[in-house]
Formats: sequence, C-alpha cells, structure tokens
Amino acid sequence: MDFRLSDEEAAFQEAVRKFGDRTLRPNEAKIDSEALIPPDIIQAMADLGLLSMMVPEELGGMGASAVLTELAAEEIGRGDSSMATAVFFLLEAGWGHILARHGQEAVKREVLPPVCQGKAFLGIATTEPTGGSDLAGMRTTSRRDGSLFVLHGEKSFISGVEEAKRMGGGHLTLTRAPSGGFNFLYVPTRTEGISTQRFHNMGRMGISTGGLSYQDARVPAKYLLGTEGRGFEYAMEGFSVARTFVAAACVGAAERALETGMAYIRERKAFGQPLGKFEGIQFELVDLWTQVEAVKWQCRRAAWLLDSYTLRGDTSHRSEVDRTVASVKLAAPQVAFECVKRAMMWFGAAGYTEEAGLERGFRGIMSYLVGAEGGLNIMRIILGRELLGKEFVPYK
Ligand SMILES: Cc1cc2nc3c(=O)[nH]c(=O)nc-3n(C[C@H](O)[C@H](O)[C@H](O)COP(=O)(O)OP(=O)(O)OC[C@H]3O[C@@H](n4cnc5c(N)ncnc54)[C@H](O)[C@@H]3O)c2cc1C
Repeated sequence: MDFRLSDEEAAFQEAVRKFGDRTLRPNEAKIDSEALIPPDIIQAMADLGLLSMMVPEELGGMGASAVLTELAAEEIGRGDSSMATAVFFLLEAGWGHILARHGQEAVKREVLPPVCQGKAFLGIATTEPTGGSDLAGMRTTSRRDGSLFVLHGEKSFISGVEEAKRMGGGHLTLTRAPSGGFNFLYVPTRTEGISTQRFHNMGRMGISTGGLSYQDARVPAKYLLGTEGRGFEYAMEGFSVARTFVAAACVGAAERALETGMAYIRERKAFGQPLGKFEGIQFELVDLWTQVEAVKWQCRRAAWLLDSYTLRGDTSHRSEVDRTVASVKLAAPQVAFECVKRAMMWFGAAGYTEEAGLERGFRGIMSYLVGAEGGLNIMRIILGRELLGKEFVPYK
C-alpha cells in the first residue's frame, strides 16, 4: 500500500491548487452574485485540461485517471466553495467519460472535443417532476422512429440547462424504452421540441438548474449510448464516477472552511486569549479535521477502485465499489456542511456576513444534502443493501 502521489500527480494537484487560489477564489463572490461562471474561467479550465479530463486524448481530453480527476475535484471545491465551478467540472468529467465509454464513435467525435475545449456543455438528465430517487418510476419515453428517437416527457432540477442552451451541448438523458428497459441518449438542448426553464436556487448560483420539456423531440438514433434498453446500467456507472467527484469537491470545500476558520481563531481574541486556545473551539476543529481526513482518503480509495475495476469494465468488485462510493457521497457533504457551519459559528456575528466568505459554501453544499447526485437516504439504502443483502432493500 502506497499513499504517496506520483510526481506527476503532485505537480498537477499543485497546478490546480494555484488555479483555485489565483482564479477561482478571487472570483467566487462574482460567480455567485452574477449567477455565471465567466467564459474566461471556463477557457482557463480548458487550457489546464480540466474539462472532461478523463476523455481520451484523441477525443480532446487528457485521458486522466479517476484518481487524478478526484484530486482536481478537491482543488476546485476548495477554490470555489459555492460549488458552481465544481458542478461544472464534475458533470463534464463524469458524463464525458461515460459518453467516451459507451457512445458511438461518430458521436464521441462530434460531442466531446467541443466539451473538452469549453465550447459546449455536457450534463446528465434523469430526475423528473414526479421524483428523482425512484428512477425506475420515471415517465419520459423514447421510441425509435427509423433513424431517429422521439422523446416525450419532462425532466426537472437539471444542472446546466442554460449553459447547454447558451454554449451548445446537451445532457445524457435517461428515458423509458418501449421494451421495458431504459435508453440513455445524448440529447442536444437546442433540438426542436425541447424547451427549458430556469429554477431559482438558493446556492451554487454560477450554474443553472432547471427543467427540460420534450414535446416529441427528435434526435438521431446514433445518439443512443450502448445497447437499446440497457441505459440504466450506463447511468449507474456514471453515478459512481460523478458521486466520487461530488464527494471530493465537498472535501475541498470542507478544507477551505477549516482553513478560513483556523486563520480566524488564531487571531480573534475573547477573554484575553485567541479563540483557538479554548478547548470548546479547538476540540471542535480537531474532530472536524479528523473527519475530513477520513473522508478524503475514502474518496481517493473510491477513485482508485473506479480506475482498478469499474472503468476497465471489470464488475468483480462491484459491491466494494458501490459501498465505497455510497459511503463518500453520504459522508462528505455532511462533513463539509458541518465544517462550514462550525467555522461560521467561530466567526460569531461576522460569520453571518457575506464578507466572511463562508455562507456561499453553506448554500452550495446544501444542494448535496437535499439530493443532487442522489439523496443521502438513497446512499443509505445502497449501503444497507450491500451490507445486509438485497432482501433488506425497503422497496420493490
Ligand atoms: C442543485 C441541484 C442540482 C441537480 N442537478 C441534477 C442534474 O443535473 N440531473 C439530474 O438528473 N438531477 C439533478 N438533481 C436532482 C437530484 O438528482 C434529485 O434531487 C435527487 O435524485 C432526489 O430526487 P428528488 O429531489 O425528486 O427527491 P425525492 O426522490 O422526492 O425524495 C425526497 C426525499 O426523500 C428521500 N427518499 C426518497 N426515497 C426514500 C426511501 N426509499 N427511503 C428513505 N428516504 C427516501 C430522499 O433522499 C429525499 O431526501 C439536482 C438537484 C439539485 C438540488
């Protein structure tokens, strides 16, 4: 067992940290208040190779490992703790990779290079107005009509609807197939018959969330990923990847909150002493740091498991992968939220101001507690299933 990063990994981590410190952190408030990741920041990410970095080089990516991508996600979450840039990053990383693995050759060549260059957006659309946890209950349909698929239905709470409309691009979209299975299709947002709606969120303002409505929208049949009817398994593979990066971004945001908090409690005095000397505060910090370290290394192990098995099409360690990914998606947002909340409290009244720089993380991380990339209870159900057996899944 070797926990050291290779020289290349350490150098890349350092480069992304510098990008976070010099470019994301000074722009975090602007990204949040203007509800936009500025195009020059997206371009800078593309120049660093950060967009869809797991996509093979011949399709415009870096051909990066999940471990390297996980390291980058930590740094981006640390740089922009509002989570907007992290969401942009991890959607493209996770779902670009799935398109590269299961898409048709011509479609990969059409869609992925512009995504890697920051000229188009790629996201995921599974959630519907009737619910996101019970994916098997989804209603949006896709039926084949010659060389086309015809989509009908509605998706909601989808990240990047405006970006896909503005920049071009679209979403990998899970739909019900007439056969009873699921079709997973790349659906460009600018397709005739698709309309979008932006929702008004409380956080991670720099990336849009909204609805997509398909009124007999037609897309070329070549946009189908893999085999007709088997889309659910491709989507689940993508969730394992994306959830690992969500957790990694939360780790970065948690570390940032603790750093901000530590700087404050070293300086701020009460009763003639720095706050950090009071055990009531110091021990809180120590307990949180311990939790962040534990979840960080579990995230890196999740990424290592993906590299070692899932991304090679090896399902022999599926239970271990599912357990590890669900555990980090369950723990990391809660730990991060607690870190931000506690750091805000160490600041006292100042923690309640925008200037303290903590409330954006508070609002952004909350998106992962309420459900983005899968609700916490769904992670608990996955873990319960893996620990106790399928007969203990509390629904059919
Ligand atoms: C900011 C944001 C961005 C998002 N971006 C995307 C996106 O890009 N693409 C996309 O497809 N979706 C996206 N989502 C939606 C997300 O995937 C869903 O929120 C999630 O799947 C939960 O679905 P739901 O919100 O409909 O809650 P529901 O499924 O209605 O569940 C409500 C609550 O009940 C809990 N629950 C559900 N079933 C059970 C059970 N059996 N036992 C115990 N508790 C249960 C859930 O954990 C949740 O807390 C986003 C959400 C947010 C907040």
